[in-house]
Amino acid sequence: EVEQAQHPQIPAPNEETIFDKIASKQIPANIVYEDDLVMAFRDISPQAPVHIVLIPKHRDGLTRLLVAEERHKALLGHMMWAASEVARREHLEAGWRLTVNDGVWGSQSVYHLHFHILGGRQMGWPPG
Ligand code: ADP
Repeated sequence: EVEQAQHPQIPAPNEETIFDKIASKQIPANIVYEDDLVMAFRDISPQAPVHIVLIPKHRDGLTRLLVAEERHKALLGHMMWAASEVARREHLEAGWRLTVNDGVWGSQSVYHLHFHILGGRQMGWPPG
């Protein structure tokens, strides 16, 4: 709540986002991986030849990584494994990048925790 007061543009933990609607299949997405806990789908505005968004199906308070609690540790570990599974399915052996844009300075726009899986080209460093 402290960071909410400092950054009123960060929505409250109970506000639905477009990713809730994708997770519940109310709106369509190009799904590349799904299990009980997570879903991965192609980004609508790809920033690389492969650009996939990986989300927990149930946000469970995880508007952003900064607010993760002890109880989220298993889900976060599963998300990391699912990212590696997606990278294998997308044949990203040449290399790829896993990104979390967190908060205002991180350029986060959807406040439902998600990983960006990026590949298919040489990545630059440092990121913008
Ligand atoms: P940013 O928009 O700055 O990349 P985020 O890290 O919050 O910030 O990323 C949200 C991502 O979700 C964006 O890459 C955006 O293109 C993607 N996105 C938004 N709506 C959809 C949608 N309906 N289907 C697929 N991807 C989406």
